[in-house]
Amino acid sequence: MALDKILVTRSSLPEMEEYVEEIKELWENHWLTNMGVKHNQLKDMLIKYLRVSHLEMMSNGHMALEMALQAMKLDGEVITSPFTFASTTHAIVRNGLKPVFCDIERDRYTMDPEKIEALITEKTCAILPVHVYGNVCDVEAIQKIADKHGLKVIYDAAHAFGETYKGKGIGTYGDVSMFSFHATKVFNTIEGGAVCFKDAGLERPLYELKNFGIHNAEEVRAIGANAKMNEFCAAMGICNLRHLAEEISKRKMVYEKYMSELSTVKGIKLNPVQEDLVSNYAYFPIVVEDEFGCDRDVVWQKLAENDIIARKYFYPLVNEYECYRKMHNSADTPIAKDISMRVLTLPMYADLDMHTVERICAVIKGI
Ligand SMILES: *Cc1c(COP(=O)(O)O)cnc(C)c1O
Repeated sequence: MALDKILVTRSSLPEMEEYVEEIKELWENHWLTNMGVKHNQLKDMLIKYLRVSHLEMMSNGHMALEMALQAMKLDGEVITSPFTFASTTHAIVRNGLKPVFCDIERDRYTMDPEKIEALITEKTCAILPVHVYGNVCDVEAIQKIADKHGLKVIYDAAHAFGETYKGKGIGTYGDVSMFSFHATKVFNTIEGGAVCFKDAGLERPLYELKNFGIHNAEEVRAIGANAKMNEFCAAMGICNLRHLAEEISKRKMVYEKYMSELSTVKGIKLNPVQEDLVSNYAYFPIVVEDEFGCDRDVVWQKLAENDIIARKYFYPLVNEYECYRKMHNSADTPIAKDISMRVLTLPMYADLDMHTVERICAVIKGI
């Protein structure tokens, strides 16, 4: 029998019976979407779990970010990171805003606060950093700059679900945070997402924007979209959230196994352990340094030859995409460029067994 490929991630699912039990109610009330009972129940659970004051659920993380930027009525330039997924920048551009790329810190791969101020112009309205791999950005320094210049701060927290920093939910930092509940994320609703925010005044606009901007039966106030989370997705979220603590503790064991196997390998740089951060162990990125003796693509290839599918995440940089490279230049963000050429995320999910982790690490050590 051929060995199955080890993929970089594997979606969490509850027992099928548990999910069936959860959706039975839907056959009784025939209410499948538009903020039904499951939607409202999950929303309450998430506010508690994430330790945030306000939250609106959406059909996915990307729409959550788009809706947030629209609800905030931003205009002008947004300083953001090119070391991210397409969604972050697309949400800015699709709102008629201009992305301005700031370089990242070499150690934690998040926006470098020391490079923000040089990018601020009279048109700058917001800063949109990314908690890459669940690494918390330098939230204090970023907030200080934002306050000094009167800018909003919106975090792409797609990787940071459930984390706490200095005892507070990570979604409480900045004005707004977006979470993704995509199938590949630590917590999933199949597809889904949410936006958390400080200003209670955003609640109504966000609720209306995700439902076409409908204010009431006879009035449509804003040019909204359709970004509602349906009942089947919400039910999946309710089930998955019940088991999340256990899933994360299993991820932690995988993380610790990788750490013990790889921490002595010369030229393989591991993700930093951050003080005051309770991690969700979402990803296991390694950075292949010159000292290792061969480059990232060779490591990727060797793993692939052994049916282990690692991911060059994030490569290429957003400012190298065909749709952006005419206006932007990755030479302006040299550290992000360098990391994108060296980084590899290794398989990481709750059910990854220790023998497989050993096998993955043995391939790397054998190169
Ligand atoms: C997954 C992800 C998104 C988009 O979330 P979806 O739920 O897939 O729309 C945005 N930003 C980052 C960094 C992500 O990893």
